[in-house]
Amino acid sequence: MCNEKNGAFTIITIDGPAGAGKSTVAKKVANILGYEYLDTGALYRAIALYLIGRKIPPVESEEMREALSNVEIFFDNERIYLGDRDVSAEIRTVEIETTVSAYAKLGAVRRKLLEIQRKIGTLGNIVADGRDMGTVVFPNAVLKIYLVAELKERAKRRWKDLRANGRDLSLAEVEAQLKKRDEEDTKRENCPLRVPDGAFVIDSTGFSADQIAEKVVGLAEKLLRTEERTNES
Ligand code: C5P
Repeated sequence: MCNEKNGAFTIITIDGPAGAGKSTVAKKVANILGYEYLDTGALYRAIALYLIGRKIPPVESEEMREALSNVEIFFDNERIYLGDRDVSAEIRTVEIETTVSAYAKLGAVRRKLLEIQRKIGTLGNIVADGRDMGTVVFPNAVLKIYLVAELKERAKRRWKDLRANGRDLSLAEVEAQLKKRDEEDTKRENCPLRVPDGAFVIDSTGFSADQIAEKVVGLAEKLLRTEERTNES
């Protein structure tokens, strides 16, 4: 299902706070529609890892701009690489989780990733999840979703994932971390987390990822059919 409107591929965006289920839903939707999944949170995490590795603090500097101009970051088979290093596991540590937002708020970091994300958007049909997909990176996306869920449920989901990966944090700690990250992402000056214009707001509280994915696919199919009809007439 390749939509060549304006010479571009079809883009579906899913934004929302941490732990709302964006990545699980986005992967499922991409899988059902045969699209690629673009995990932009992984890009921000990898950039944070890269800068921390170079001992560059989360403050804009010439050193940071120079480092960013040299970074090689890419996805291959759903793994993320910094140069030839597969960092897919390293970007999921508590250290990255608690510092990523401090780097993500910087204009230099966002400009670098804007370029990379838009380039990926020219390569094929994608489902992109993040914080500014529908507002800034792909404002012309065919379908924009803003996925929310109650904080307690988001914390529980994240806590279960962490436990499954052998990490021993209390539910209260996970909840506090999510809350802090949401505040940082919503209150920052550069591309804050917002409901994009024209987005469908979906509350995933009490629903499974499959149910939400089905809803998103239904919306996508409806919008794409309408577009096809408009293009034909
Ligand atoms: O989605 P994930 O939890 O992996 O995102 C990690 C962090 O990356 C977010 O808390 C946010 O600070 C940043 N981010 C962002 N813009 C995006 C995606 C992620 O600022 N589009």
